[in-house]
Amino acid sequence: MTGTVMEAILLKNGRIIDPSSDIDLAGDLLIEDRRIADIGPGLKGPEHAQLVDLNNKWVVPGLIDMHVHLREPGQEYKETIETGTRAAAAGGFTKVACMPNTSPPNDNEGITRFILDKAREAGNCQVLPVAAVSTGQKGRGLTEFFDLLNAGAVAFSDDGVPVRKASVMRLALEYALNFDALIISHAEEPDLSAQGCMNEGITSTRLGLRGIPNAAEDVAVFRDCCLAELTGARLHIAHVSTKGAVEIIRRAKEKGVKVTAETAPHYFSLTEEAVEDYNTLAKMNPPLRTEEDRRAIIEGLRDGTIDAIATDHAPHESLSKECEFALAANGIIGLETALPLALKVLLREEGFSPLEIARLMSQNPASILKVEGGSLEKGKRADVTVIDSELPFTLDRDSLFSKSFNSPFLGQSFRGRAILTIMEGKVTFDLLGLLREG
Ligand SMILES: [Zn+2]
Repeated sequence: MTGTVMEAILLKNGRIIDPSSDIDLAGDLLIEDRRIADIGPGLKGPEHAQLVDLNNKWVVPGLIDMHVHLREPGQEYKETIETGTRAAAAGGFTKVACMPNTSPPNDNEGITRFILDKAREAGNCQVLPVAAVSTGQKGRGLTEFFDLLNAGAVAFSDDGVPVRKASVMRLALEYALNFDALIISHAEEPDLSAQGCMNEGITSTRLGLRGIPNAAEDVAVFRDCCLAELTGARLHIAHVSTKGAVEIIRRAKEKGVKVTAETAPHYFSLTEEAVEDYNTLAKMNPPLRTEEDRRAIIEGLRDGTIDAIATDHAPHESLSKECEFALAANGIIGLETALPLALKVLLREEGFSPLEIARLMSQNPASILKVEGGSLEKGKRADVTVIDSELPFTLDRDSLFSKSFNSPFLGQSFRGRAILTIMEGKVTFDLLGLLREG
């Protein structure tokens, strides 16, 4: 059963994976009064506790996705806060940060409060609003950072579009410094990417499609790293897709610039070959790149240059994908495939440890956004995800909770997914009906 707050839940015989304390041990976890009450071997909960034998399934801190598009307000035919957060819970997420490019954009307290109210009402997943950097995301006047932070915004970004002028980005970083606020950069130089619809290279030439060169991303990442160095403010680079961007961020970090970065599962899973046959389901911005870029992204995740995995969940109704490639909308849904892809590529193909995956999908996003989470320590709010790393399943339309199903992974078989999601002690997803009354 889902949606019910249980006073006590005792997860027995799990593999407890807590990146905040570097723990990966067999044991139990007790949740009481919405908090983690105890952790360790051979726990005995109170008599009324709901007991689940996990048989060595992973127990990790609730996953956190720092980059989603929930489409509400304004585009409820693509997704709503209710459906998007249900998809999040099904993907194992207990917190998601939503980008401001709604209609109207989240550039004022009213919209920020509206998002938070809707999310609370839905109760599936905590939503952390990212407010716009500039009014109307037009790249001119800055929004009221102070008011937006008070209303509950966790960061600022014009994501969907880049902050076009370097002077405006500089001002935003200087303004953010007053509040130690985070600026998230959608790093794209529109003079180079204009009208492009896929990666620029041999494949785009063969398909006869206008390309977007890696340089469109690299130039923008470099600009924003320079501005972060100049101002001393905290910068986060969204959806890193190129080898060059990884190298620039690595160098900036070595110099002590306060920069962090995320990539999306599709950039470590797919290459531009996915758009052969003009498959609009693999069209996104930044575009899928080459195998060389994919390798660099994986190495960036391995050495800590890239701090986080974020989905860039971008739901679209079918019509906006069922059209000519160049005209199709950008983006894919990601909340329900992020963890399965991380298990497939990072865990099984690349040898990442479960702890590393928990760090990339929970601990690091929490610390970048400065929110509670990413930890299973005693006393913390009980945001907990149980993962069956071996459970086979096929991704089909009917099984998706998202309102849209624009995914290039439809019909594919996976091994491993979230089976139980608990947000602040409340069961928000229970695939196998592990928790029953009585
Ligand atoms: Zn973006």
